[in-house]
Amino acid sequence: MPTPISHAAVGFAIAAWTQQAPPATRLCVAGAVCAALPDIDVLWSPLHLVGTSPFAHRAITHSLAFALFGALLMTAVFFRSEPWREQRSRIALVLGLALLSHGCFDALSRYSLGVEFFAPFSAQRFRFPWTPLGDPSGLAGQLIQEALVVFLPAVRIGWLGLRIRRRSLMTPP
Ligand SMILES: [Zn+2]
Repeated sequence: MPTPISHAAVGFAIAAWTQQAPPATRLCVAGAVCAALPDIDVLWSPLHLVGTSPFAHRAITHSLAFALFGALLMTAVFFRSEPWREQRSRIALVLGLALLSHGCFDALSRYSLGVEFFAPFSAQRFRFPWTPLGDPSGLAGQLIQEALVVFLPAVRIGWLGLRIRRRSLMTPP
């Protein structure tokens, strides 16, 4: 997907439904940040690194190793205080899923290079056999498709997750 905003919406939806109820806003925001984080590699795109470089687009920052490292680091930095202590493994799992979702959605796109899921151990790039994302008619079509197929449904699903899971705890049995 071209925009980190859609990735962030997916991360928000994942965090809204997978964390311990009631969903915490802080973890929803962290999930959104984690899901967008792998595209940090565009910051050094002006260096025009070759596709085989581990720091090229959709390489190391889109790998399983980065998802694991990023989830542990984010959990340690942003969820270190006492109230989060008992939930830390679940939080790391939620953030890991959010990070992994990025590479998976990129692998569903038909443009750009594939994703180096196994960097730094392998430079092989992968794309799923089914690549519905990426409208060949151009950028505008691509953005519209992305909004309709990914962004809006993800925001809706995340918002529903917050509402339903928070309300279910408030309703007396
Ligand atoms: Zn990406």
